[in-house]
Amino acid sequence: MVGKMEKTEYRILDLSRLKDTLKKYIKIQENPYIIIHDTGVEVKQSIQIVADYHRNVLGYKYIGYDIYIENGYTYETIRLYENIIGAHARGYNNSSIGICLSGHTNISAYQMDALSKIIDAILQIYPYKKILFHKNLSRIKKDPNDEVVSFIMEHYKDNAENKKRYD
Ligand SMILES: [Zn+2]
Repeated sequence: MVGKMEKTEYRILDLSRLKDTLKKYIKIQENPYIIIHDTGVEVKQSIQIVADYHRNVLGYKYIGYDIYIENGYTYETIRLYENIIGAHARGYNNSSIGICLSGHTNISAYQMDALSKIIDAILQIYPYKKILFHKNLSRIKKDPNDEVVSFIMEHYKDNAENKKRYD
């Protein structure tokens, strides 16, 4: 394992611990936005696949998202628990936390439930945070899918914004 990263890049997110994490890290306290992503492909990539891609292909130091939701498992990444700026939405990385769902049109009930619980936990502490969708921040991004957008707009209508932010 020589040459491998010393620090754990991600770990299972424990919802009962999330509120303590949120209270601990300035990054989360000060950032106004929650940005929702999916991976844009139908294959449900594991977090390890995405982390490897972000490091080896995109050249990021760590996986770019703060939270990653696979089908059955939810992870928090080092970006969240060590208060490191994310790499997931150009122009917004300094002002957001990024949550990504694995998959695109095939998001599962588990994943939507996990996403809701995380958003609920964040809004309980920071009710003013605004939820944005990656595809509204970039001309080339198509995530998350419309079903996810509709769900969020319906359940978090006071916090969510679904309009393009680019010209
Ligand atoms: Zn995205």
